[in-house]
Amino acid sequence: TKVLLTGGSGFIAAHILEQLLQKGHNVVTTVRSEEKAQKIREAHPDKNEDQLKVVVTGDIAKPDAFDEVVKTPGIEVVLHTASPFHFNWKDPKTELVDPAVNGTTGILKAIARSAPQVRRVVVTSSFAAILTEEKTSDPNTTFSEKSWNPVTEQDMHRNPPTAYRVSKTLAEKAAWDFVKDPANNAKFDLATINPPMVFGPVVHYLASLDSINTSNERIVQLVQGKWKNQIPDTGAASIWIDVRDVATAHVKAGLEVPEAGGHRLFTFSSRFSNRDIADVVKKNFPEYQDKLPGDDVKGGELAPEDKRYKVDNSETNSILKIDWIPLEKTIVDTVKSLKSYGA
Ligand code: NDP
Repeated sequence: TKVLLTGGSGFIAAHILEQLLQKGHNVVTTVRSEEKAQKIREAHPDKNEDQLKVVVTGDIAKPDAFDEVVKTPGIEVVLHTASPFHFNWKDPKTELVDPAVNGTTGILKAIARSAPQVRRVVVTSSFAAILTEEKTSDPNTTFSEKSWNPVTEQDMHRNPPTAYRVSKTLAEKAAWDFVKDPANNAKFDLATINPPMVFGPVVHYLASLDSINTSNERIVQLVQGKWKNQIPDTGAASIWIDVRDVATAHVKAGLEVPEAGGHRLFTFSSRFSNRDIADVVKKNFPEYQDKLPGDDVKGGELAPEDKRYKVDNSETNSILKIDWIPLEKTIVDTVKSLKSYGA
């Protein structure tokens, strides 16, 4: 099958790309710059242009960014992962929300107009589009595939994490609204993948540890000794998933599980706390002992059960049937991968 994968240079997308190629699919992937395109091509010297084509689309805030690439003959499935997940921006509207929303509506419009043979589109959304910030310490709240973050555009100025959640919520809403409106003439169906915090080994061609993807940053900080005296708060979104499982969820939802169409897939493995991560590293990597928090160091515990939300993803589990990788394996594999980059 020929698959269009956007944002091929990303942490998650790099794993999707590897899985697709390994399964023998042909992939057209998009990146922002020629430099990144070159790195992906160089990493796959055995693939010809038909098996792997890397196309530079530039900034996806431009509504026409995907207009040409969707015309590549034969694309049947689109996996749209590209969206900003970092906090290096000054203006949340133009640098965060616009690329998230315009990127999503832009690619859907381009497909409807120029690629009527596409049968399924999978959009990478997030737990950020599911949760309600004010309810994360409420034990009577259960977040599931049916839950929607109630934020609106005005909320993007509240703080950076909320701005990110606004970008993901508005982008996912725009996608469902697009396929619902018959005037848009969408011949494809839609599924979204809604992962919480994603950890796992890095397969992309990182320049340095400083440019590590956002969700693995805390593990870099831990092994660099930044948690030695105080373990930071775990944060509101204390559930997680392995990047390889997120990639598998995209591949299954896009290519292997027809029933995934029309669904939001809430992919997560389990709860975690920063303390759990520190404990796994301590147990498995004696070489980092002097960088790690000692037994007397405070912080990072999971909130007690009567102070945290509940989660239910039984619908997702019955559709995808993925046996989620447990925390210890993920953290061990992540640290091994960071070591190979010099951590
Ligand atoms: P990365 O930052 O590694 O990947 C983001 C990708 O999007 C990169 O390819 C990046 O390109 C591209 N991108 C971002 N902004 C633009 C833009 N303005 N124009 C063109 N391309 C852009 O993060 P992840 O792999 O973690 O994220 C991938 C997707 O998964 C995102 O949609 C994110 O919201 C979602 N997600 C991630 C979670 C996590 O914990 N990691 C959790 C839930 C959802 P470039 O390399 O050039 O910057």
